[in-house]
Order: sequence, then structure tokens, then C-alpha cells
Amino acid sequence: MRIALASFSHETCTFCPRSTEAEDFERVGVPRGDEVIEKARGVRAYLKGFIDVAEKEGVELVGVLDASRSWGGSSGSWLTPECFDAFADGIADGLKDAGKLDGVYLALHGAMAAEEFHKPEAEIVRRARAAVGDIPIMVTLDLHANEDHELTDAADAVFIIKTYPHVDTYEAGATAANWMIGTVRGEVKPTTAIRKPGVISPSVFQGTGRHPGKTIMDRCREWEAKEEGVYVSVAFGFAYADVPDGGASVIANTNGDQGLADRIAQDVSDLVWELRGPLASRKIPKTKEGVAEAIKHAEAGRRPVVLADHSDRLGDSTHVLRELIAQGAKNFGLSSIADPFAAEKLAKENKVGDRVTVSVGSFTCNRYAGEPVELTGTIEFLGSGDYRLTGPMMTGRLASLGPTAVLDLGQNNHVVISSTLHQCRDSEGFLHFGIDMDSLDIMAIKSRVHFRAYFEDIAAEIIEVDAPGLGPADLSQYEYVNEPEGLYPISPKWRK
Ligand SMILES: [Zn+2]
Repeated sequence: MRIALASFSHETCTFCPRSTEAEDFERVGVPRGDEVIEKARGVRAYLKGFIDVAEKEGVELVGVLDASRSWGGSSGSWLTPECFDAFADGIADGLKDAGKLDGVYLALHGAMAAEEFHKPEAEIVRRARAAVGDIPIMVTLDLHANEDHELTDAADAVFIIKTYPHVDTYEAGATAANWMIGTVRGEVKPTTAIRKPGVISPSVFQGTGRHPGKTIMDRCREWEAKEEGVYVSVAFGFAYADVPDGGASVIANTNGDQGLADRIAQDVSDLVWELRGPLASRKIPKTKEGVAEAIKHAEAGRRPVVLADHSDRLGDSTHVLRELIAQGAKNFGLSSIADPFAAEKLAKENKVGDRVTVSVGSFTCNRYAGEPVELTGTIEFLGSGDYRLTGPMMTGRLASLGPTAVLDLGQNNHVVISSTLHQCRDSEGFLHFGIDMDSLDIMAIKSRVHFRAYFEDIAAEIIEVDAPGLGPADLSQYEYVNEPEGLYPISPKWRK
């Protein structure tokens, strides 16, 4: 049995200012051919899950292309036509050249937004289909996917992960491999149903560790325990991509039973609709009160406190940093604030140990980032901010921060200045820069939910901060023009 595998993945923030170009993927590396498999072995994620199962079953694997990482990640806006074609055609051409194949596995994201194709994942599958013809094509998706029937029509089976933080990407890849092998052997007839409950929600409310996310995923697991040969999950959708297939999607796969797939998908979809209130809103503190709360906990000995700015999608927002300084916080580490100009200037003109004054943040000049902050401190790190994740999520994956500087501001306060958005997901976000985590009372990071996979275990308190940003908790900040009609809570019908 010969199976080809490829990945083309992007979570696109269409409200962000900068288009996503092919160069953004190439800059952090796009393995092709055999290299796809070699590189994937080192990262506990989708492709490795597929590879491990397939190799155990004696499947011959053909690596095609892996464009799953891009510079700045989801701070990029619409993919340009050149970018989309480069990798969608790259996959299709690679498949054409691959010789005889029995199946194709595509690790996609689902929240990609491309200028030319508003449902890009379906288009990727259609191009792959045109290249290989009528053999099984199976897809895995991120929990933030925005999809509709076009994707399930194009692919033979679609498996959405079940966790946020995303700690089951490896398992989803393994699931796809098991279904693929069963299908090629003629033991499984993948049969899929999709439902759109009509709900979109801000990422910060979508965690699956608690209600309502946990309640919804538990229902999926109940169906899987009750019925044999079923895989069902929900993509909660990505609210910062204004696309015509936006909003949550339930996808159920069964072995040849369309009626069962429909029943399961409808049941889970009804539950998502029922829970739309808590999915779409919850009260979280604004910057000033969130920072005050963090300092209060630290002073009372409830430390470390993790202060998570959820809404900054470009990484350069200064609200939390400014407030920490204004309120006299001590023993804080902030990882990080993006400012490639400040990082480059320090790298060019200074060395570790120099005392400097530098203006940081808000380099994108977007209206939500706040004013730049002038910092005076001693440089304690200067060099590449690239490191490998060591926590439970996507262990081994490279985080690309580019040239990075760290300033010691005194009072055991440390600020990491990276060249791009840095979603701090585990201890390496501090340790890589030589910051002593044990000495910190407050760890200020930029992340919505992923940080919980590591930090929930070590934090005495976690405070989500609703600072101004391009990924707001209140979606009424945006005027949506492409989303499907009637979507809760953004459609005019639901807005007061
Ligand atoms: Zn995601």
C-alpha cells in the first residue's frame, strides 16, 4: 500500500493588515519529498501520528510537501493567489509525480482564507483529486476550522481534533491513518455528515478543558463509545477570518452508515446551538483591573500568576506592559512584545550587558496596539529567538521568533522583544532566554488558550486579560461582510 502525505495549513486573520505570501512559509521552511517525513518525525503532531501508524502497518509513505508553518503564524491576513497556488499546486504536482498511489492524507487547518478561493481547503482537496483520481483522500482539521459541505463533498473523510489547547493532533493523524488503511483494504467505507450550528465564538472562550467546550467534546466521545466505527468532532471556528463558511462545523464519520452519521452530526450540532450563549461570551477583566488582580495575587503569595493577553494577534500590543510598569509590578517576565525594528537595532548597535533606552511595540501602527513604550534596562540576551517547544502541545515544533533581545528592567522585571508574534506555550518561552522562571511572580504572555497545556499545572492563578486587540472577545468590534447569514452572535439579527 502506498500513501502520500502533505500539509498546507494557515489560520488567517483577515482583519490583520499584512497579506500572507509564499515567502512567509518558505522563510521558516517548507520540506518537500522525503524531507517531509524526516522532519515530521521530530514533532508530535498530525503527520507523525499518521506516519507512526502507517509504518507499523507496513505502508509505503510518500512525502509531498509540508507548508504548515509560516512567519508570524496567524498574524497574517488573506493568502495572495501566488501563495495559495504555490502550495496547492505544489501538492497536486507532487501527487502527479508520485507514481501509483492508494490514498492521500492531507493535514489542513480549516481557517485558511485565500483571496482567490474563499473555501481554500476544499480547493486544495479538489486539486489533489484532479491529480490522483478516485482514491481515498482524507483530511485532518484544526479545532478552529471554518468549513462547510464543500470540503466534506471533496474529501472521503474529515477528522477534526477535539482539544484546545491542541494536544491531540498526533492522535488525529493516527485516526486518519487507521481509517485510511481500513478503507484501502476494503474494510471501511467512510461516510460523512456535516452540520453548521450557526454559531461563531471568540477563541478565548473555546477551551475544551471546561464548559461549554468540554461538554460538547464529551458528547462526541459518548457517541464514539456507544457506536462502533465512529469519529465525530466539532471545529468551533475562527472568528477572525471573515469567510463564507465561517462558524462552527460538526463532522461525523461512520463506516457506511449515512443515517447514523446524520443523526450524530445533528445531535452534536443541536448541543452547540444550545450552548451558544456561554460559547460566545464570558466576562473577563480589562487590562487595568487584570494587572491589578495579578499584582494582588502575587503580593498575597499566590504565585506565579499567568497573565494572558488573549486579543493581540500581531504581538506588538503594549497595553499590558504599560500597565505592569504603571502599577509598579515587580518580578514579572513578559514574553514577548514584537518589534523587529527594536530587536534589529539592539542587535546591530549593542551587546549583552549594555544599558540602553529603547522604544518598543506598536510597530504595526494598528489602532488597537497602543502607543510604543520606552524602556530603559540592561540587555541580558541578544540572538535568535527560535526554540523548540518542550511542553505537552506539539512537542518538538520550532517556534520562530527571529532576532530577539531581552531587557532586564531592574526589580527582577524582564521583557522579551521578538521580531514577530510569539504565542508563549511552555517554559521554553522564558528558559530559552535565560529567564529564571522560579523567580517570577507574574508571567505575562500572549495566548488565548494554548498556554494552558503547560501553564495550568504550574500557575497559582491564571488571569485572562481583555486588552484591546485584533482578536477581541467582543466580536461586535468588527463589521463582517462574508460570513453566512444569521450567524450567532455577529449577524445583525442578534445584534441589539
Ligand atoms: Zn487552532
